[in-house]
Amino acid sequence: MGNGSEKLERLLAVQEIDMEIVELEKRREELPARRAEVAGEITALETERETATEELERNRLERRHRESEAETARGKLAKYERQLNEVKTNVAYSALLSEIRGTKEEISGLDDEILDRMERIETLERRIEEVDGALEEKREAARDELEAIDAQAVEVDRRLTDVRARRETKAAEVDRRLYELYDRLRRKRRFPALVPLKGQACSACFARMPPQVVQEIKHGGALHPCEHCGVLVYAEPSERAQPADVGS
Ligand SMILES: [Zn+2]
Repeated sequence: MGNGSEKLERLLAVQEIDMEIVELEKRREELPARRAEVAGEITALETERETATEELERNRLERRHRESEAETARGKLAKYERQLNEVKTNVAYSALLSEIRGTKEEISGLDDEILDRMERIETLERRIEEVDGALEEKREAARDELEAIDAQAVEVDRRLTDVRARRETKAAEVDRRLYELYDRLRRKRRFPALVPLKGQACSACFARMPPQVVQEIKHGGALHPCEHCGVLVYAEPSERAQPADVGS
């Protein structure tokens, strides 16, 4: 009989370690989300800065293009104005005037666009400066918290490595058949796979167990599957009959 409860104690020790692993894994999985939450405002500002910088570059490029076009148009206008003194006919003269008017309109349009671009450039430069200030502030504020989260991740990983190694040692000490029963349940997400008897019932689903099965659990230190929910039911040491009681 003592052998039966020793087997049970060894398996319970493995389940206890597995519970610790489940807990640690849960904590580990929560850390990236917490990190993202803390870093969220920073990420948003970084994205805004990137978008503003791209727009700034685009505007600077457009401004240079329009300036170069305006430069060309001014050259053309100067040439037309010189030609005014050389034309001989009224027809040629009014054709030239019309060219001059068209070119002046073109220059005016380009100058308007250059001015718009310059205003946009100034706005963007100011916004980028503001974002940089806010980023510095937020990064400073979040630094400690992010460092703490990263340190926790390292710590949880270290503990998981330790606990998994400990589990391997403990699992090797368990009776193979029992271990496989347990492990099959655990992998099917029936966890905890081992639950104590509560009164006459399975403490996972509260289904009553047949009196004969209850006796076997209490007296034999044995595990018995609950017919209702499938977990393995055992008796807590205080519920177990002393070996002397057996057969009495
Ligand atoms: Zn049950």
